[in-house]
Amino acid sequence: MADPKGFLKNGREGATRRPVDERVGDWDEVYPDGIGRALLPIINTQASRCMDCGIPFCHEGCPLGNIIPEWNDLVWRDDWEGAIERLHATNNFPEFTGRLCPAPCETACVLGINQDPVTIKNVEVSIIDKAWESGFVRPQPPEWLSGRTVAVIGSGPAGLAAAQQLTRAGHTVAVFEREDRAGGLLRYGIPEFKMEKKHLDRRLDQMRREGTVFRTGVEAGAPGGKYSGEQLKERYDAVVLATGSTVARDLPVTGRELGGIHQAMDFLPQANRVAVGEPANADGSEQVVATGKNVVIIGGGDTGADCLGTSIRQGAASITQLEIMPEPPESRPTGQPWPTYPMIFRVSSAHEEGGERVYSASTKEFLGDEDGNVRALRIVEVVFEGGTLSEVEGSEREIPAELVLFAMGFTGPEQPGLVEQLGVDLDARGNVARDEGYMTSVPGVFSAGDCGRGQSLIVWAIAEGRAAAAAVDEYLTGSTILPAPIPPSKRPLVV
Ligand SMILES: Cc1cc2nc3c(=O)[nH]c(=O)nc-3n(C[C@H](O)[C@H](O)[C@H](O)COP(=O)(O)OP(=O)(O)OC[C@H]3O[C@@H](n4cnc5c(N)ncnc54)[C@H](O)[C@@H]3O)c2cc1C
Ligand code: SF4
Repeated sequence: MADPKGFLKNGREGATRRPVDERVGDWDEVYPDGIGRALLPIINTQASRCMDCGIPFCHEGCPLGNIIPEWNDLVWRDDWEGAIERLHATNNFPEFTGRLCPAPCETACVLGINQDPVTIKNVEVSIIDKAWESGFVRPQPPEWLSGRTVAVIGSGPAGLAAAQQLTRAGHTVAVFEREDRAGGLLRYGIPEFKMEKKHLDRRLDQMRREGTVFRTGVEAGAPGGKYSGEQLKERYDAVVLATGSTVARDLPVTGRELGGIHQAMDFLPQANRVAVGEPANADGSEQVVATGKNVVIIGGGDTGADCLGTSIRQGAASITQLEIMPEPPESRPTGQPWPTYPMIFRVSSAHEEGGERVYSASTKEFLGDEDGNVRALRIVEVVFEGGTLSEVEGSEREIPAELVLFAMGFTGPEQPGLVEQLGVDLDARGNVARDEGYMTSVPGVFSAGDCGRGQSLIVWAIAEGRAAAAAVDEYLTGSTILPAPIPPSKRPLVV
C-alpha cells in the first residue's frame, strides 16, 4: 500500500488553475501547461493518502471498476509505467475521464467518511499525461485477425471504447460518424478549456494505428445513403449503435419562436470549431455568438457550465444561469450519506470566471423586440411542495437577454433514420432497448452509451462500450476474454 501514515500526515491538495483574467483570454485548458504537469510536484504525496482500505468503495463508485488503490501505490512509488498498465487495464481513455469525470469514486472513497477524500481523478490524469509524455502509450494492434467485421455507429466515448476493444480482439472495425471529425460530444460538445482536442486526436491516431477505420462525414441511415440499416446488417457481422442521446429538451413557452433562442448544441459546436481555427459552420452561415449580449442560460448542469465559460470567452455583456431546482447545500445532506454521489453546490472552472446563478427560477415567457428577436425573459420564483412545483406570488420579474441558450438535457436518441430502419425496440423512455448482454431486439445489433442508457456521463459511456465489446466478441466467436465492467442495468450510487 501507499505510505501507511500518508492520510494522517498530508491534507488534500489540487492543482492551481491559471488566473481567471489570463485564462478567459484564450481557449486553452485552465491549468498551466496542462493538468498532468501542473499536478506533478504534489501528486506522489496525494497518492500516498490512499489508505488501501480493506473494501475499497471507490471501485464501486467508479463505473469502470478502476483499480484505484493499486495505481495510487504505484504513483507513490514513482512506478509510472506500472501505474498506466493498471489504469489501462480498466479504462481505455483515462485522459478523458481524468479531465471530465465528476469523480463518483471520490464521493465513495472511505477516507471521505471523516476526512477529505483522495484526489483520485487527479492521480488518474497525472498517470496518463505522464505516460503519453514518456512514450508508454503505444498502439496495440491485434496479433491475428478473426475475419469478422463490426460496424460501430457513432464515435463518442462509447463507440470509441467498443471499437478499440473489438479491434484489439482481432475483429475488423469501421466507425461511422456523421460529423466531419470523430469524437462525439468530446469534440463538439465539450469546450477546449475543459479538454484540448489534441488529447482526443492523439488517441484517435493510436486507434488508427491499431487498425480501426474511421468513416467520418457518413450518416448511417441517411435517406438515399449507402449505409441504411439493412445494408449495415448485410455487410457487417455485427453492428454497435453508439449514436448518443441527441434530442434536446425544449421549452415551448410563449415567444419560443423569437430569434436569438438556441439549443446549447447549436452554440457550443460552432464555438469549439472556431476555438481550433476552423470555420464555425461548413456552409458559411453566421456563427451564434455571445459577444456584447446579455446571455441567459437555462439549465444548471455540465452543458450550462460549458455555455457559461464559452460566453465569457466570447465577451458577453452579462450572463445569468437559471436553474429550476433550489440551491443545493454546501455539504453532503444527511439523506444522501456516504458512499452515494450527493447533490451539493459545485463550482466548476467556468463558475469561478463569472456569471450569476439564479435558483428556483422558472421561465414563463420570452419577450421580443420589434425585429422579432428576444429582448428579455419573464421568470418567476418556484417552490417544490409535496412533490409539485408552485409559483411564488408576486415574484415575477424580467431579465434582459439578447441570447438565450437551452441546456436542459436530452430526451433520447433520434428515431427517424437508422433506429427505425434497423427496427430495434425502444424502452419506456425512448432509448434503444437491450438485454443484459447489450443486444437489441434485432440479433447482431447491439447498443452502448447514451443511446441505450439515456443522457449520462463519459465514464458510463466508456464502461458500456467496453462491456458491449465483450458481448459482441462472444456473439461473433462463442467466447470472450474481454472485460465487461457493467451490465446495462447498473445504476449510479445515488439515493
Ligand atoms: C455540452 C456537454 C458537456 C458535457 N460535459 C460532460 C463532462 O464534463 N463530463 C462527463 O462525464 N459528461 C459530460 N457530458 C455527457 C457526455 O458527453 C456524454 O454522456 C457522452 O459523450 C456520451 O457518449 P456516447 O458515445 O454515448 O455519445 P456521444 O458522445 O453523443 O456520441 C454519439 C455520436 O454518434 C454520432 N451519430 C449519431 N447518429 C449517427 C448516425 N446515424 N450515423 C453516424 N454517426 C451518428 C453523433 O454525431 C455523435 O458524434 C456532456 C454533455 C454535453 C452535451
Ligand atoms: S473514471 Fe471517474 S469515477 Fe472512475 S476513477 Fe476516474 S474519476 Fe473516478
